[in-house]
Amino acid sequence: MGSVESISIAKRTGVCYGVREAIDKAKVARAEGKATHTLGHVVHNEGLIADLHARGIESVETLDQVTEGAAIVIRAHGVTPEVLQRANDRGLEVIDGTCTWVVQEHRELAKLVEEGYEIVLLGTPHHPEVVGLLGFAPNAILVDEEEDWAKIPRRKRMALITQSTQPPWKFERLAAFLVSRCHELKVLNTVCPVTIRRQEDTMEAARSVDMMVVVGGSKSANTKELTRLCEISGTRALQIESAADLRDPAPFAGVIRVGVTGGTSTPIEDLERVAARIAELAGTESVKGRAGEIAREALASAATPQYRTTSITEPSAQ
Ligand code: SF4
Repeated sequence: MGSVESISIAKRTGVCYGVREAIDKAKVARAEGKATHTLGHVVHNEGLIADLHARGIESVETLDQVTEGAAIVIRAHGVTPEVLQRANDRGLEVIDGTCTWVVQEHRELAKLVEEGYEIVLLGTPHHPEVVGLLGFAPNAILVDEEEDWAKIPRRKRMALITQSTQPPWKFERLAAFLVSRCHELKVLNTVCPVTIRRQEDTMEAARSVDMMVVVGGSKSANTKELTRLCEISGTRALQIESAADLRDPAPFAGVIRVGVTGGTSTPIEDLERVAARIAELAGTESVKGRAGEIAREALASAATPQYRTTSITEPSAQ
């Protein structure tokens, strides 16, 4: 018999507003009868991608795969100005789903270039948001882990900016490091508030349970960071991609209270499914019998409808 008596979901989780808006824009375009594509996967979540596919929204890797006149949705990560230009030149209908926060980053970067700063960008190489950012500042010095930082040259005027989902502690540490590298340092804190709030709420949840389950892509940096933060809080964390990964009750042995959280591409409905699965797999007899109800209650106390995955009402486009 399992030992889990309570399951909660961290507040302010679920798909972030940037990703949600890009998804909604794609759905609206399709519902209006447009041939709709997304440039790259609009979200790193198999269930949501399958849902878009079922609505007839295809993901393409390059603009060349889209026929003239069709709609192309730019995902929340944004793209370089060249990509936008090429889409327009090819006669595509561009639906710009770039997150407003990322748009702000683009503006800030362009301004820094204009002002002549040596720009240091904290980000993960090849991450789509970083690729887009570099389109606005091609000469920026891209750094990620601390081992990279020694390569940053000394300059008179430097500016620091970051990819939105980098951990705030890393950004602060790099800012402190750069103080010794230049005479004038301009610091633009572009860590997304959604990321910060999610980390705060995850840590708060972790402090009140015996174990956390963190849901998100295995390669997702912001998901891995949540797992790390749970452990810093002193709470063991199990990172999974979806409820289907929960097949073995062993990690829950002796655990009474479980918390669930997820990365910025994980729909809150997936967290509900994970909560139900934990109840079925590792709950006490009474919890097992009420798995669905317990998961629904956990969702209701974690999220108002504004944190749900979509604001579009059904039925979907044909
Ligand atoms: S994490 Fe923040 S910046 Fe990135 S898409 Fe989501 S809301 Fe926008």
